Amino acid sequence: MLDKKKFYIDGEWVNPYKKNDCEVINPCNEDPFAIISLGSKEDTDLAVKAAKTAFKSWKETTKEERIEYLEKLLSIYKKRFGEMAKAISLEMGAPMDWSTNVQTASGQAHLEDFILRLKDFKFDKHFDEKSNNHIYYEPIGICGLITPWNWPINQIALKVIPAFATGCTMILKPSEIAPVSGMLFAEMIDEVGFPKGVFNLVNGDGVGVGSQLSSHPDIDMVSFTGSTRAGRLISKNAADTIKRVCLELGGKGGNIVFADSYKNAVRDGIRNVMSNSGQSCDAPTRMLVEKSIYERAVKDAVDEANKIYVDQASKKGDHIGPVISKTQYDKIISLIESGISEGATLAAGGPELPNGLNKGYFIKPTIFTDVTNEMRIAKEEIFGPVLSIIPFDTEEEAINIVNDTSYGLGNYLQTEDKIKAHRVAQKLRSGCVYINGNAADAGTPFGGYKQSGNGREGGVWGLEEYLEVKTVTGWK
Ligand code: NAD
Repeated sequence: MLDKKKFYIDGEWVNPYKKNDCEVINPCNEDPFAIISLGSKEDTDLAVKAAKTAFKSWKETTKEERIEYLEKLLSIYKKRFGEMAKAISLEMGAPMDWSTNVQTASGQAHLEDFILRLKDFKFDKHFDEKSNNHIYYEPIGICGLITPWNWPINQIALKVIPAFATGCTMILKPSEIAPVSGMLFAEMIDEVGFPKGVFNLVNGDGVGVGSQLSSHPDIDMVSFTGSTRAGRLISKNAADTIKRVCLELGGKGGNIVFADSYKNAVRDGIRNVMSNSGQSCDAPTRMLVEKSIYERAVKDAVDEANKIYVDQASKKGDHIGPVISKTQYDKIISLIESGISEGATLAAGGPELPNGLNKGYFIKPTIFTDVTNEMRIAKEEIFGPVLSIIPFDTEEEAINIVNDTSYGLGNYLQTEDKIKAHRVAQKLRSGCVYINGNAADAGTPFGGYKQSGNGREGGVWGLEEYLEVKTVTGWK
């Protein structure tokens, strides 16, 4: 059993103010493998105090000094890359190949990209040539960073790195369900030797440390990634102190497959939705298929889903692992059952455990066809390996169905017709539109419309979230 009970506060690993142990469960076998502490108000206050003290000098550091710290962090991250991959695999049940090449690699990619953006970023500039005004970008201050379990290091890197880069100090609260990767990241930060108090980590749950951070009078900004449910609570809790609240929330992505799409569009869509065991906020979980190719698309989809095998994290290969927890497992199974009872056709998978797996939170890749947008499986974020296929007749109908959701994070479309692709992309109400399976480049902004959030992470937009903007007149 790993002992992970300490917090990282003011440059040291310290015991919690009072004992409040919490087991971290391995989703592959349902056994606990680590114990963390859930922090109390005293721990949060201590971390905030450290961050507040450190801010006085950290905000005065030059960009070049901060780049040097981040470059050192990048080299330590590369050195301990394998450890990070193992930590994520253990806490999420993610197969090692996926954990290494995708999850852990994402942390490195963000580090590299933010260093590049920071090098080019101008923290002060003249308003324009003729103007007597000057503009300053200054760190917002003390940041509370709250992250989820599904892309643990990706989400942590998207917050911690720009906070460091802009001269902010911070308290990170990783997900209590997958906290081990965040604690390893804190060890790397410790190894770099950042000035004490710049980065602090306190473990805890949402009602405890999460709420203490979002309501804390000395915290200037909360950056949150997680469910829309918690995002709402955090916004309300932060209102009294008028802090900046940046939210990266849930999604219910649509994937429009037009009749003129490329050959493997349906199969790629299936792989995309089932990867990470369906636990991605921008997964294309509603596949809209033009009626003229509906029969063939369903056949391809079912065939591809049946090829994806589900197995232990320790096995090599491109299979998928379990979902994260008993709570998520129960929620996903109950949504699969709702799909059956609401009259959708179960075309692949289903609520039974996959063959040969009697322990662990494993779910078969599941496909529903003949889904209507009114069904729960089409409306709610399932966050498991479950896809709904919805037929459509016209472009306008497809756009309306995709936009008929309270979410707006990532949408997808497949067509060989460039003019149609651009036209439809502009009409989809989401922060990202992926055409023909193309990924977004590092440094592009990521975030949601509507109830998928209000922030943008990554690149220059990710830096700007942590900055105040000051106008100074009478400059010349
Ligand atoms: P969650 O909302 O349950 O928890 C996320 C984090 O918030 C955890 O650290 C948790 O302890 C904390 N938390 C929970 N309630 C809180 C409260 N009232 N106050 C303060 N903190 C609170 O989400 P999850 O189950 O860990 O993650 C899955 C969700 O995250 C999905 O909805 C997914 O779509 C979303 N997500 C969004 C993005 C994005 O960039 N938009 C990325 C990844 C995940």
